[in-house]
Amino acid sequence: MPRQVIIGAMVLAGLAAGPAAQERIDYAMQSRIRQEGWERSQIERTMHYLTDVYGPRLTGSPNLKAAGEWAITQLEAWGLSNGHLEPWDFGHPGWLNERFAAPLVSPVKDSLVAEVLAWTPGTNGVVRTQVARLEPPRGPMGPAQGPQGPQPLGPTPEELKGYLDSVATTVKGKIAMVGAPAVVPVDFNPPDKRTDFDQIRQRYDPTRLAAQRPGPPFAPQPERPAEGGPKRLTAREVDQEIDAFLLASGAAARFNDAGRAHGQIRAFQNRTYDPTKVVPTLILRNEDYGRIWRILADGTPVELELEIVNRDYPEGRTAYNAIAEIPGTDKADEVLMLGGHLDSWHAATGATDNATGCAVMMEAARILAALGVKPRRTIRVALWGGEEQGLLGSQAYVKQHFGTFEAPTPAYAKFGGYFNVDSGTGRVRGASVFGPDGAADILREVLAPFADFGIVGAITTDSRRTGGTDSTSFNAAGLPGIGMGQDPIEYGTHTWHTNLDTYERIVPDDMRKSAIAIAAAVYHVAMRDELLPRFTKETMPAAPGEAR
Ligand SMILES: [Zn+2]
Repeated sequence: MPRQVIIGAMVLAGLAAGPAAQERIDYAMQSRIRQEGWERSQIERTMHYLTDVYGPRLTGSPNLKAAGEWAITQLEAWGLSNGHLEPWDFGHPGWLNERFAAPLVSPVKDSLVAEVLAWTPGTNGVVRTQVARLEPPRGPMGPAQGPQGPQPLGPTPEELKGYLDSVATTVKGKIAMVGAPAVVPVDFNPPDKRTDFDQIRQRYDPTRLAAQRPGPPFAPQPERPAEGGPKRLTAREVDQEIDAFLLASGAAARFNDAGRAHGQIRAFQNRTYDPTKVVPTLILRNEDYGRIWRILADGTPVELELEIVNRDYPEGRTAYNAIAEIPGTDKADEVLMLGGHLDSWHAATGATDNATGCAVMMEAARILAALGVKPRRTIRVALWGGEEQGLLGSQAYVKQHFGTFEAPTPAYAKFGGYFNVDSGTGRVRGASVFGPDGAADILREVLAPFADFGIVGAITTDSRRTGGTDSTSFNAAGLPGIGMGQDPIEYGTHTWHTNLDTYERIVPDDMRKSAIAIAAAVYHVAMRDELLPRFTKETMPAAPGEAR
């Protein structure tokens, strides 16, 4: 990079960081990393394979295993070693949808846009049948909470049972639409694609008290406090009751409303992961769901021809993390990790959630391997499975290799940190590390020369709650998980978990910048004399659920 940019960046960093810089930054190496990452980037090719060729990559599916094998082969071709798939126990069969069709055949003929709910059964060939509307009770409205305003509190078990008993004969042999279509109002506020500079600088301002900082992106929702009155069913409990009712009543299929604008569909899973416990289930785009609902409201019967072909993979009970590394030298037994989750949901090819995170980390490792670095510590890439089902792959890995602060393995003390990317295609703007202030000071200094990319710094977190993404599996164990904060681009609004999460939505320029900055940070932490500072016995926050 040109010298004036370096000087500008250093001045900016000095202003932001306050205390005098103490890290010895290898600017010559950072310059080589920039050149390699900019001129010979493999990110688009990696993204093509992970999405077009191997997507969707649902946990337990043969696609995900094949994607992991491809990634290992690729990393080894770039010069990494010890590539292998590490098994962990998923405990559920793999599942894939092969195809489906659900055309309207009466009173009009038309195709519908839908996605299949994962871990549901297919139909037995083509089923031609009518559609029935269900409007299960939702209970009274609760107090206003969060941006969505007041939400219904849910029915009592008796209210739900009373309603379902009354419609048991109505749904036999039919497709049941569950719930009235959502009314999605027009959104007059264009979503933020870049985070404003002042806003991002405030977010990563180390002088702000931890309590005033926003949580990590997609942090777990606090649980709703218990309320007085009769027991009410949660949305999930209502859902399971309705599934059991439809199966027992001989319904042909279940339709849910996607409830989002512009044809967006988010399709998750049957939470029992057992296709014998539910009827075939589709999520219709809000526009098609609403159309059928309104025609039925006219008193006109609606008929469809439904065919869904799903397949179970018993071998998917064993799932995998894909691992490869650049061996260390004089500190080879100290391991520094970088990664993201390779699994995706199945409605699209999982481009921004999270092939982008995997491609950025693979590229960061490629850059270092291409430069022939001989890091002091071992640099290990990990591409996780099972993140979407609850951080399962990374939790299994941390448990097996490192244990926890309270019950450590021998490798625990020698762990160098884990860098994670999992918030879409937007470029990295800052880092949040689990540990004392000194850990963030180091990351802030090594990232400071990338101010021209819009990177503003690093802060700490002391939360050991898991949720959101795989770095929190490390935080929970008391290890330095490092979550990279990113520009939103179209992630939260358009691509996250939707049927629109495809290769077309990536921003390769942003991803190149993220990979370059992360390669530089990983290299620095792998080379410095000491590991990142950690909480001590006296300062380690209690694990969730443990008094301290
Ligand atoms: Zn994700």
